[in-house]
Amino acid sequence: MRQQLPKEIDPFRFAQTGRELEGEIKLATLSRLSASLYKDDGVVQVSMQFAVDDTGTPYMQGHFETTLSLTCERCLQELVLPLKIDTQLGLVRHEKLAEKLSDQYEPWVIEDHELVDPATVVEDELILALPLVPKHEENCLPDEAWVSEDKADTQMEKPDKPESPFAILSELKSKK
Ligand SMILES: [Zn+2]
Repeated sequence: MRQQLPKEIDPFRFAQTGRELEGEIKLATLSRLSASLYKDDGVVQVSMQFAVDDTGTPYMQGHFETTLSLTCERCLQELVLPLKIDTQLGLVRHEKLAEKLSDQYEPWVIEDHELVDPATVVEDELILALPLVPKHEENCLPDEAWVSEDKADTQMEKPDKPESPFAILSELKSKK
């Protein structure tokens, strides 16, 4: 399975005819995603099954597999993230129709007579799967780094101005 995906498809027609797509996409060609990658070599294995369900809703059942190279926000080294995404997208002609889809589908909005690049929907799904803050699971920084971070948090306390002994004395006297 080393075939290229077509650049333009009509997903509604694919659903009517029950088409399947299999192929791979180079990560480097997904420009929105690759901008947030540590390294953009590698590919996504893509499998898409188009069909119409019992209620007449056209949909795409997708399975995307890849390994992304991200940057750990703690140690700034490479973080390898294997991803397997299974998704069911309901095809709709307009955003307003997305609400009518049953809960099992996420919407895939395709305007009338529009041909779409299947790579775009794969890229969207991968971006959605990215962790908000990528971090190694283990503590990936040396211990010293944690200590110095703690010290930076401690604020110097401003010492109270010492009261003059004479002021204290006069206060005591006046109370008698
Ligand atoms: Zn790390």
